[in-house]
Amino acid sequence: MSENIPNENISILIVEDEPKIARFTQLELEHEGFRTSIEGNGRRAYERIIQEDYDVVLLDVMLPEMDGFEICQKVRELSDVPIIMLTARDDIEDKVNGLDIGADDYLTKPFAIKELLARIRLILRRKSVAQEKEEPRGEVLQVKNLKIIPAQYEVIVGNTKVSLTKKEYDLLEYLVRNKRVVLTREQILSNVWGYDYAGDTNVVDVYIRYLRSKLDDKFGEKYIHTMRGIGYVVKE
Ligand code: CA
Repeated sequence: MSENIPNENISILIVEDEPKIARFTQLELEHEGFRTSIEGNGRRAYERIIQEDYDVVLLDVMLPEMDGFEICQKVRELSDVPIIMLTARDDIEDKVNGLDIGADDYLTKPFAIKELLARIRLILRRKSVAQEKEEPRGEVLQVKNLKIIPAQYEVIVGNTKVSLTKKEYDLLEYLVRNKRVVLTREQILSNVWGYDYAGDTNVVDVYIRYLRSKLDDKFGEKYIHTMRGIGYVVKE
C-alpha cells in the first residue's frame, strides 16, 4: 500500500512568496526525502501546477499576481492534484473558504513541520487508495508530459485531463504511437480517416490546428511539429 511509496518518488510544489518560509519548508521536506520545488509567484504557480506532474501542492494564500484561493479554484476546473492550503491568518472564514473551493486540507501558519508531514502522509494515503480502486489502466503512450491511455480514450497533460473529440483523439493517438516518425498527410488521412475517405488532405491541417489549440497553445509546450512540404511529427 501507500506506506511503500518511497518519498523520493513524491514531488511536492511549495507555493510560497516568503523566501525564508519556503526554504525552511523545503529543507524539512527534503530531509524526509521528498522531491520539492518552490514557486513564489501566483500566476506562475497556477501554470506549473497544471503543466507539471506534482503529487502534492502546498499553497500559500497571499501571493503576488494570483492568490491561493483563485489558484485553487482554477486548478480544480482541470485537475484533482492534492492541495494543502497554508493560511497566515487563523481565520475560520479562510479555512471554510479553502475547503469550499476544493482544497484537500489546510494548515494555519506558523505550522509545526510534524503536523505538515502528517497531513501530507494522509493525503498520499487517500490518493493511493483512490488509485487502487481505479480500473487497471493498461497501455500508456507518452510524449513529454502528455500521456494517452488508449483503453480509456484518456489524454492527460501533467495532472490535467484534456477533453478531445473522437477524431482529435484518433489523430493524436496515431501521431504519438508514431512519435519521431514524420507522417505525410496521406498517411495520416488513410490511417485516421480510413482508406475510403473521400475528402482532401486539408482536413488533416484543420484537425492539427484543433489539437494545437487544445494542447500546444494551452499548455505552452510544442508537441506537434510541422515538416514543411511533408507532413507532421510528434517529438520528445
Ligand atoms: Ca504569502
